[in-house]
Amino acid sequence: MSAQPMPASDAASAEPAVRAASPRTLREALPVFLRHGSPRILIACVGIAVAARVAAGGWSAWDLVPLVALVLYWPIQEWGIHVFILHAKPRRVFGRTIDLRVPRKHRAHHREPWRLDILFIPMHSFLYTIPILAGVWWLVTPSASLALTGIAAHFALALHYEWVHFLVHTRVTPRNAYYQRLWKSHRRHHFKNENYWFGVTMLSGDRLLGTAPDVADVPTSPTARTLLA
Ligand SMILES: [Zn+2]
Ligand SMILES: [Zn+2]
Ligand SMILES: [Zn+2]
Repeated sequence: MSAQPMPASDAASAEPAVRAASPRTLREALPVFLRHGSPRILIACVGIAVAARVAAGGWSAWDLVPLVALVLYWPIQEWGIHVFILHAKPRRVFGRTIDLRVPRKHRAHHREPWRLDILFIPMHSFLYTIPILAGVWWLVTPSASLALTGIAAHFALALHYEWVHFLVHTRVTPRNAYYQRLWKSHRRHHFKNENYWFGVTMLSGDRLLGTAPDVADVPTSPTARTLLA
């Protein structure tokens, strides 16, 4: 397989056909979502973690602590991964170009934002993100029960992220005001200016870190499709 990216002009000319085949309703979208590897892995992870949490028992009010901490942390995680990992530029190090798979895949997603096959979390990344996530929850909680509460909720938010990000790139239009804001924000990131609006399912990271400006103040970026200045 060639690593050469599709020229922007070709990607643009293929666009109407790609868009016309895109799901328009949640009913049409769900089977497409479930055909892909990353949603399947995340559904399995949520199922296993919830089952393990139920088996561990010992519920208490303390279970709310990992949940609240996660909801406060999540927008920062979305922002940080998007800014520092997904948008990492190729770098020359000792005469070699370092350009990791994850940012390469994200640039392909920016070039062809309506192509549904290339927008999911890359499968190989689960090899390290799952152990890291489980390990961190284990370290920051005092018991297996509370660790499993955090782990289960973390996978649930990741699955929610994957579902929302997929839907934003279909023709499904949300009715709920919160989701309408998410749609608007992520589409601005893709079509207005890639240097702003990094949040996908929670937008407080952008508000906190200064990347949610008034659209009128932001120039349309010529590199929103390529991410390469
Ligand atoms: Zn596919
Ligand atoms: Zn996107
Ligand atoms: Zn991006």
